[in-house]
Amino acid sequence: MTKNMKAAFLVQPGNMKVKEIPIPEPAPGWVRLKVKACGICGSDMHYYKGNYPELESKEIIEKKVLNKIYGHEACGIIDKLGEGVTGLKAGDRVAVIPPVACMKCEYCRVGLFELCRNLEIIGYEYPGGYAEYTTARVSNIYPVPDIISFEEATTLDSLAVGVHAVQLAKITIADRVAILGAGAIGLAIAAVALKAGARDTFITAKHRCQRDLARKIGIKHILDPNEDNIVEKIIAQSESRGVDCVLESVGVSGKVIEFALSILRKGGRIIFTGLFEERLSLSFWDILIKGATITASGAYGMWDLVPEFELAVEMLSNGEFPAKDLVTHTFSLEKINEAFQQKLKPEERSKTIKVAIVF
Ligand SMILES: [Zn+2]
Ligand SMILES: [Zn+2]
Repeated sequence: MTKNMKAAFLVQPGNMKVKEIPIPEPAPGWVRLKVKACGICGSDMHYYKGNYPELESKEIIEKKVLNKIYGHEACGIIDKLGEGVTGLKAGDRVAVIPPVACMKCEYCRVGLFELCRNLEIIGYEYPGGYAEYTTARVSNIYPVPDIISFEEATTLDSLAVGVHAVQLAKITIADRVAILGAGAIGLAIAAVALKAGARDTFITAKHRCQRDLARKIGIKHILDPNEDNIVEKIIAQSESRGVDCVLESVGVSGKVIEFALSILRKGGRIIFTGLFEERLSLSFWDILIKGATITASGAYGMWDLVPEFELAVEMLSNGEFPAKDLVTHTFSLEKINEAFQQKLKPEERSKTIKVAIVF
């Protein structure tokens, strides 16, 4: 007899509904975990909010967005092994590595898993962690040491995104780096950029709690994006030529890319990780004159021989990322709509960074 579990489905933009469905069975080579915590990421918010400039028609939105179990920042305890799984056992504490690469295409063959032609995500194409149980392929789980709590482990995905962005940015000790936005991903980028040895660091942080965490991480210049003359201040602190690298984590509107260009030195690099809610109009003339390189950083994979998720786990274990402070709010699965609203309510924004569903 199959038992049931509770799982949250996005039934309409802005509305998740908790339903009872059968507990999933792990496929061969997969494991099932009892979910202990699952974070809410920018991409989950994007689908929840209901503004999808990348999707054209109502039919596509219904097919691609609705009636899914989201939640890719999941972690928990292994509860059942699929056929052929060895080296793991029920009771192991693990986190889900959401990108499921095909392991067969030309990108996968050279370890560029984040560019896999057939990339699928646990928490999008596959049911995710806004449920009492979820399943993951064996190569898509990573052990979580006891020193990391499940709540803290919900920040591992953001941290791995930060690791990948810094890899693409090729940050060295010669670089002055500006990070735009101080949400979970901006703060993750900040921590990794410092670890990579950035010569000087700037961050724009709208809210007090973000500025406090940026300070804790060790960012030198913490700026309120609404203060006056912010461009001039950054330029003045970087030998009047601008910063070598801008890592953007704000998204939403094209203004942030214009801002990035305005503080970038000639020949500098911009890496963007943000999700945009409009089609951008940019001055390609400005980009050409600057000789800027603009790179997008979405998922993550390997840094040379090392999985980027492993580097994220290591940073958390070493206390190099204030994950505990980052998770500002937790909610039960039944209150999942409140959890999403926590990130949307204007009066709550200033004290909210990472919100997690806990079980
Ligand atoms: Zn995420
Ligand atoms: Zn592939």
